[in-house]
Amino acid sequence: MPFSLFSAPAREASHFLGFAGNIIDRQSEKRSDDSAKLALVEPDARLLLIASGRLVLDFSDGPANPYFTLAAVQALGAQTSDAILLGRTDGTATLAVPIAAEPESLPDHLKAIDFRAILAQGLAEKAELGALAQGAALLAWHANHRFCGRCGGPTEMRAGGYKRLCAACGAEHFPRTDPVAIMLTVSGDKCLMGRGRHFAPGVYSALAGFIEPGETIEAAVRRETLEESGIRLGRVVYHASQPWPFPYSLMIGCYGEALNEDISADSDELEDCRWFSRAEVVQMLDGTHPGGLKVPAGHAIAHQLIRTWADAASDS
Ligand SMILES: [Zn+2]
Repeated sequence: MPFSLFSAPAREASHFLGFAGNIIDRQSEKRSDDSAKLALVEPDARLLLIASGRLVLDFSDGPANPYFTLAAVQALGAQTSDAILLGRTDGTATLAVPIAAEPESLPDHLKAIDFRAILAQGLAEKAELGALAQGAALLAWHANHRFCGRCGGPTEMRAGGYKRLCAACGAEHFPRTDPVAIMLTVSGDKCLMGRGRHFAPGVYSALAGFIEPGETIEAAVRRETLEESGIRLGRVVYHASQPWPFPYSLMIGCYGEALNEDISADSDELEDCRWFSRAEVVQMLDGTHPGGLKVPAGHAIAHQLIRTWADAASDS
């Protein structure tokens, strides 16, 4: 069996995805209980301001600027005591700070913009999107874990935001990442895609589902595909992963080899599920499909799974 590591590309597929460009040095070995508090008052500290699912951007100097000073976030009434330290870039600290304010209550030069819109509209650089994915996921985890899962007592932030401690029972709670398998099933010159009930009109995508405890990635890919489409899979290969801060998932993209072609779609989850020829998928990617069908936009891992397959199929 060939050893695949040294035939892999120098830059893995994940590198090219939205939310995947984080270059912050997390310095996890240096986290102390007061590291966020100390970094917050450093004169050059950069603060991301996050309001439930939205990033606040400053348009006062023209292009969108996601970084604020401590004085600026204090003036807006942000919860600086809940700030978390993401790490450092060339020595400069980056923190994420939650703000409870309604987006409409912000001054005119500030806009609180949904994470998906920031990605889709290119309102942040690659590295900033990576920092956003880290900060948004952590803040959401803190918001959802204010009480101890063991005794119900209140928990307090520790380790710069990388731990919560229960004062009552001493339990330590650590940030979680929820793995989601997303897979493009392939059979000959066709791939399998479905339409979720809440998708935008005309959009078809790769199937996806949460990986469950005790499951390998490959087993989850096979189970989810069978449950949602009735298609059994043989070989499964990993392709790429993408941080997905809704609220703290990691999308794990794979390809699966179909063993049958008769679809039995899960109508609770999917409005439609069918095979697409490569020619039809190319039209969907190019925006030239006669029926107006589309695939997800280029920043999403589903798009890359679909495009990589379509490009490779055309080479063969
Ligand atoms: Zn407890």
